[in-house]
Amino acid sequence: MGAFGRFMVTITKCMPRFLVAAVARRYVAGKDISSAVSVMKKLSSEGACFTVDVLGEEISTLDEAQFFIDEYDRVLDAIVEHNLDANLSIKPTAFGLLIDEKAAYQNIERLLKNAAGHDIFVRLDMEDHRVTQSTIDIVLSMHEKGLTNVGTVLQSRLFRTSDDINSVCEKLGGAADFRICKGVYLEPEDIALTGYQQIVDALNSHITQMLDAGAYVGIASHDMPVIEHTIAELNERGMNSSGIDTRDNAGPSRTGKGPGYEFQMLLGVRGNVRRKLAGQGHRTRIYIPYGNRWYEYSMRRLDENPDVAMHIVKSILMPWTNRR
Ligand code: FAD
Repeated sequence: MGAFGRFMVTITKCMPRFLVAAVARRYVAGKDISSAVSVMKKLSSEGACFTVDVLGEEISTLDEAQFFIDEYDRVLDAIVEHNLDANLSIKPTAFGLLIDEKAAYQNIERLLKNAAGHDIFVRLDMEDHRVTQSTIDIVLSMHEKGLTNVGTVLQSRLFRTSDDINSVCEKLGGAADFRICKGVYLEPEDIALTGYQQIVDALNSHITQMLDAGAYVGIASHDMPVIEHTIAELNERGMNSSGIDTRDNAGPSRTGKGPGYEFQMLLGVRGNVRRKLAGQGHRTRIYIPYGNRWYEYSMRRLDENPDVAMHIVKSILMPWTNRR
């Protein structure tokens, strides 16, 4: 799979941009916020809610952060104006984390305050291992300042994740709010798991650990063994589609959130599974990336994890495995 994936990445990089655009259209909501709004309005009828991501990440000068600051303000305005059931996903490096940590904190704090004014939650996407600790630290520091509308993502492939869950839950209690996923960055073997089954087992155990700790859990996976494990764990706690978080240690309920958990999926990926979950009464959130840097973004994702190329090829050749 890895070698074929790498081969597909090479082929894709040689493809003309318009062909890549035709494929990317399924996974990217468009070039601007108005396209993202149209996609969200359409998908609302499928019982989904959303998290909006402005494409782009690590910047090389602090001035570039201004683009993301302004654009996310526009996203907030659009969510309010169109009454969308949506929150934000941001990449801390796009706000300057690897250039000037203090400035990045200020930029993120400003956005959180603005979002809090509309009762909107902000998720810090997790990037590669260079920023794992500093991303978690931003969340803890913002909670200390009383900005509780923020949570981050943890990646199950990293050895450290179980300890991170414990330390965040110890500090934030029921206010801990995670997205948990496998992790898209292929990290070095001395800090991360590499085998599929090991990663699935780790992800399943992290979901259980988070549910036990009373945290809010966004399960970001399209993988059936993970979804099935989650449903079994929810059933065991009586947390399924009843709409009630039955855990004694659960945090306060928050606008736009599910009863202690939600399922999260990427735009264009396994819509049939998502619709089925929504039909069963589970809260389902779609990750909506948009922006004019879609080409660079797509190429970087392919470079980071050639398996993504495999998923895309499979969706084209065997559409029944991955309905929109
Ligand atoms: P897989 O076994 O990889 O996928 C199961 C099936 O889903 C595949 O067979 C395929 O049919 C389909 N599929 C999965 N991914 C794709 C794709 N990209 N294109 C087409 N089909 C696909 N990772 C991070 O490191 N940091 C983050 O902040 C982060 N945020 C995420 C937010 C959301 C909402 C989601 C869903 C994922 C996020 N990820 C993030 C990515 C995640 O870590 C995984 O790399 C990704 O979800 C694939 O893992 P999977 O559990 O879906 O299982």
